[in-house]
Amino acid sequence: MKRQLIYIVVFLVIVSQRLFSQDYDSAFILNEKYVKEVKKLLKKKKIQDAFEYIDILEPRTLRDLIFLTELPAPPFKENKRAEAFRDLLEEAGADKVWIDEVGNVIAVRNAVKRDSERPEVVVLDAHLDTVFPEGTEVTIKLNGDTLVAPGVGDDTRGLVLILTVLRALNESGINTVADIWIVGTVGEEGLGDLRGVKHLFRSGAPAIRSWISVDGGTMGRITNSGLGSHRYRVTFTGEGGHSWSAFGMANPIHALGRAISIFATEADRFIQSGPKTSFNVGRIGGGTSVNSISYESWMEVDIRSVDHSSLLAMDDIFQKAMQAALHDENNLRKKGEILNVKIEMIGDRPSGEVPADMPLVQRALAVTTLFDISPRLTTGSTNSNIPISRGIPAVTISRGGKSGASHSLKEWWLNDSSGPQAIKLALLLLVTEAGIK
Ligand SMILES: [Zn+2]
Repeated sequence: MKRQLIYIVVFLVIVSQRLFSQDYDSAFILNEKYVKEVKKLLKKKKIQDAFEYIDILEPRTLRDLIFLTELPAPPFKENKRAEAFRDLLEEAGADKVWIDEVGNVIAVRNAVKRDSERPEVVVLDAHLDTVFPEGTEVTIKLNGDTLVAPGVGDDTRGLVLILTVLRALNESGINTVADIWIVGTVGEEGLGDLRGVKHLFRSGAPAIRSWISVDGGTMGRITNSGLGSHRYRVTFTGEGGHSWSAFGMANPIHALGRAISIFATEADRFIQSGPKTSFNVGRIGGGTSVNSISYESWMEVDIRSVDHSSLLAMDDIFQKAMQAALHDENNLRKKGEILNVKIEMIGDRPSGEVPADMPLVQRALAVTTLFDISPRLTTGSTNSNIPISRGIPAVTISRGGKSGASHSLKEWWLNDSSGPQAIKLALLLLVTEAGIK
């Protein structure tokens, strides 16, 4: 446990890494004050009791993981798993549990006493949804001790981790100054577009002062920076007609080709400097037959940046490219109606970063260090993006264990010593942030 108290990590930006890696490690200084704070907490009998109980609970935690993994939670259809998770949280002894309007499961563990210096509500979150469509086989297969099933790691293991944290808090009788919410969120993946967490931060919602997501494989990775993205579906429409007899009409597929060309050229110019920003036309479609002028063409576009203003600038380039392509194609028209373009936003994740010296980030660094793991501050695209983008303290931490092939049918998760360790780490961070009474 004895480690150097002040860590200074200097990250060298290597151009090739910048281009091909999704994550950035950023430099930080760990303030000794937070190491002392966590060390003091670690000595408390109740924390030690909770840790012991987490070890005792290991078989139960594993059973819960198998049970929840085998309840499918496709995008927009998390309700079955949500109901089961609600029942488990009730059984674990939450003061109040409910499923909200959008399907999030919220369990409240009341504070003993409010203290104005502490946040009112500290959230520990994992997401209910998986990326797998309805009908996907989700039965766990055992390969030795390795659990193989879609969603077993991402993020069912996260759900089980936060459930075990609640059980351990109750068993050891830890009292906190802030209310603790244990939350299973809907819609973290893909087109879910963070709708669960967005709902929790809607205007007029109870004020959440700190947010801790459990959603990541590698121990020690602390996500304090959100990778923002905008996603669009673009559709060009026209009259359509015969390729010979209607020749001269504006052509939606030609417009789409122009749109991609103009966008990719302008976007490439933009990314030559500044914070890492990416663009991708991921899917295209349309057309009737080789001898028809199509009546429709479409594409799906993904734009990402670690920097909000770069994201907005790239968005502007994209919007202008679509209009320029429409204009150019309509200009070539010799007969028939003009084309139209519809641009629908299908994803909106804001970017942002909470500073490394913010207490929650410092506590996450201190707790990780005291578990003898080297912490890294990274960028990610998780539920934390929403609070981070609003300047609310938020981090995403690891689920523990070994894991791989996430978002694939061969996804696997294997318990090892980092499994219970990750649960203890989450509990300690949560209690440090919520304040112990
Ligand atoms: Zn996830």
